[in-house]
Amino acid sequence: MRFADVLDQYHAIGLLRSALRTGRVHHAYLFTGPSGTGRRETAWAFAQALQCQRYAEDACGNCLPCQKSERRVHPDIRWIEPPEGRQGIGIDQIREMRQEAAYGPYEGKYRVYIVAPAERLLPEAQNALLKLLEEPPPRIVILLVAESPNALLPTVVSRTQLVRFNLVPAADIERALRVQFEVPPARARVLAALCAGRAALAARWARDPDALADRDRVVDWLGRVEQEGLLAALEAAESLAQDRERLGELLDIALLWYRDVLVEQHAGDERLLVNLDRREEIRRLAARLPPEAVRRRLEAIERAKADLRRNVQPRLALEAMFLQFQLHPTPTAPPV
Ligand SMILES: [Zn+2]
Repeated sequence: MRFADVLDQYHAIGLLRSALRTGRVHHAYLFTGPSGTGRRETAWAFAQALQCQRYAEDACGNCLPCQKSERRVHPDIRWIEPPEGRQGIGIDQIREMRQEAAYGPYEGKYRVYIVAPAERLLPEAQNALLKLLEEPPPRIVILLVAESPNALLPTVVSRTQLVRFNLVPAADIERALRVQFEVPPARARVLAALCAGRAALAARWARDPDALADRDRVVDWLGRVEQEGLLAALEAAESLAQDRERLGELLDIALLWYRDVLVEQHAGDERLLVNLDRREEIRRLAARLPPEAVRRRLEAIERAKADLRRNVQPRLALEAMFLQFQLHPTPTAPPV
């Protein structure tokens, strides 16, 4: 992992590059911010740059230490995570870390520990970590990754250097995807809109050929409901409801879809569309559906999201939503 692989987050990375450039590396950092913003990726990239033989502001990606880091087998980069089947990071793990750290790095310049997610440190583990932070052995670097500093003891937080990660505006993510990752413009637009500000998530999707599978699934169902009416609506409700965990995200995709239809009807400007790669379908739907019917669909989707928050059964919420669609049907749809 290199800084070049982390999307956006120039502020956080600038701070770490400067530590690498000046050699003034702190013994502990707290990478904090919403998940999906690149905290882990940046921690990994920093750990790798600290081991890289080029001693530059970013890892080279080619030298032996870099290769070991990429394969996650570098002996001086250790990941401290909750063990398989356990919820928290226990005191035994931190004790072991303290014993090892006393000997210094095996082969690199620093011994780096990435503790993620740090909010999973159990209380006694945090206290053990505090002792390590108070009297750090030489050439140790501890990278804590947490959504918020509030999850950690204030005494732990005060001994770290804070590195903040932020949600990034969609337009910036879109540009970074195109420039930094050479993603085609239409795809960059959709990924940037769907990731909701989480740049690292967009970066992960950019490398994943199936990243738009959810979007395509939702939009395909909506297309069938518009075409075929009630029976397709019931089928769609049944199928989508099975994805209970992510149903909120799937409904956000549906919102973006009908929002595009409205945009097409009012502005007709493709620069404003999210689902640029499916513009033909948007155009067809915009021509057939009255704007009032589109607005009713958006309201129905919002209502379904609210229902889910109130723990209404997913299938019922979706059926009620699609029923609203039927009250304002696509004019040219065949009768059911
Ligand atoms: Zn290297």
